[in-house]
Amino acid sequence: MEREHNEAIFTTSSFVFDDAEQAGKLFSGQASGNVYSRFTNPTVAGFESRLAELENASHCVATSSGMAAITGTLLALLKSGDHIVASSALFGSTVSLLTTVFEKFGVQTSFVSLTDPKQWKLAIRPNTKLFFLETPSNPLCEIADIEQISRIAHEIDALLVVDNAFMTPILQRPIEIGADIVVHTATKYLDGQGRCIGGAIVTDDASIHEKLFAMLRTTGPSMSPFNAWTFVKGLETLPLRMKHHCSNALAVARWLQNHPQVKRVHYPGLQSHPQHDLAKQLFSGFGGIVSFEVQGGKYDAWSMIDATEMLSITGNLGDVKTTITHPATTTHSRITQEARDRARITDSLIRLSVGLEYIEDILADLELGLRKVEGSG
Ligand SMILES: *Cc1c(COP(=O)(O)O)cnc(C)c1O
Repeated sequence: MEREHNEAIFTTSSFVFDDAEQAGKLFSGQASGNVYSRFTNPTVAGFESRLAELENASHCVATSSGMAAITGTLLALLKSGDHIVASSALFGSTVSLLTTVFEKFGVQTSFVSLTDPKQWKLAIRPNTKLFFLETPSNPLCEIADIEQISRIAHEIDALLVVDNAFMTPILQRPIEIGADIVVHTATKYLDGQGRCIGGAIVTDDASIHEKLFAMLRTTGPSMSPFNAWTFVKGLETLPLRMKHHCSNALAVARWLQNHPQVKRVHYPGLQSHPQHDLAKQLFSGFGGIVSFEVQGGKYDAWSMIDATEMLSITGNLGDVKTTITHPATTTHSRITQEARDRARITDSLIRLSVGLEYIEDILADLELGLRKVEGSG
């Protein structure tokens, strides 16, 4: 005992044993304890137990990134010949993972509307093993009825996996309302200050956890102890940050809604959001992501973005600093125009991840940008 107040970082790749017999027991699984940091590490375990607690679940496995969490989940629970039903509004790399990597290994995916549970039911095949969704969606903030979709999945003994990156367990706890697994990117709100890449998989089911752990310790996308320590610090301020992200984002959404150069605002906290009532049921706050369409087209959106001074032009989100991005030419540029039209990602759409700056400063900067909008295209 060193009586340290702050958590220690165990930057060690392996652990030593009292004697050969203990080593044998730990290696064979007869005793539990740390052996090697690809399997378990005390600092990483500290992050895992806290995130599990926040999601009101019993198990968590940390990973090297959010994508590693998603990849690990699918590798552990699916095999060649299985079928996935997934939301068509997913993070770009998740779509690529499903359509290129898993397709190549014989796992097919059908994409359906996040907001229409009937489509999920219709997409079921005899070999459907898993449902995957992300809610609210990026960047239009559409919302899934997790409870209803989980019932459809469980009717056929399929598992529902929810990517809870946008809400975090502070605003939405999918496992409490039917999800079997929650995947996280720790890179976004859990860190909150844009420092480290990481991810996690959370479940309340011991047998699922066993499969996940076995797959991850073998394939190796483990979280580094230093990153785990950073995320532990992030979790300590997560409730406070989320509360403030929500209040700033709501203020921004309301302000944008009344701006003459703004055509439309997408934010679940607005009365005008088509699923506002569902959002009130599911969330304890409406999150920090706001998207909106300016009058005009691509060049108006670009001028608006370029004329802001404080906002960071970057595709990242969940940071204390407000970030601004043009989805059609960045995060969603690699999909076809047709797919963009279907997803309603127009050329005039801008996405904000509203940070923790003074609200007056954020609004003043948005006003600087919107003055450049001429509405001609
Ligand atoms: C960023 C993100 C991911 C991927 O996380 P990484 O940590 O970048 O691998 C997955 N899902 C969502 C919704 C994200 O925003």
